[in-house]
Amino acid sequence: MSCLFCRIISGEIPSAKVYEDDQLMAFTDITPQAPLHVLIVPRKHIATLNELTPDDDGLVGAMTRTAAAIAKSNGYDASGFRTVFNCNADAGQAVFHIHLHLLAGRTLAWPPG
Ligand code: 5GP
Ligand code: ZN
Repeated sequence: MSCLFCRIISGEIPSAKVYEDDQLMAFTDITPQAPLHVLIVPRKHIATLNELTPDDDGLVGAMTRTAAAIAKSNGYDASGFRTVFNCNADAGQAVFHIHLHLLAGRTLAWPPG
């Protein structure tokens, strides 16, 4: 298995886990870009958003709701947070297993770089 996030999900590579259920795992980003920077990752390997099918709609919804729940549990629901999916080179996707970034705890500039 060569995919980094599949290896984290299997437990082969350690991570700072913040949430897991039968579909998802969430862990702290190794290079945090904000006081809270969590990656919400499906257990199912999907390389990019381009590979999503209608069967994945519930999964992506669960990822979004999980991000909001983690933001809330850290006290950032009212102050605000950002969720980001990067897709392919121009967006800077580095790990080809979809993941939703959750960033919070500082003012986040818009538009992003
Ligand atoms: P991307 O650029 O693909 O949207 O984001 C990949 C993210 O994965 C980056 O923010 C990077 O810091 C994070 N990352 C890369 N390798 C590891 C790792 O081994 N463990 C964890 N927890 N995060 C990682
Ligand atoms: Zn994978």
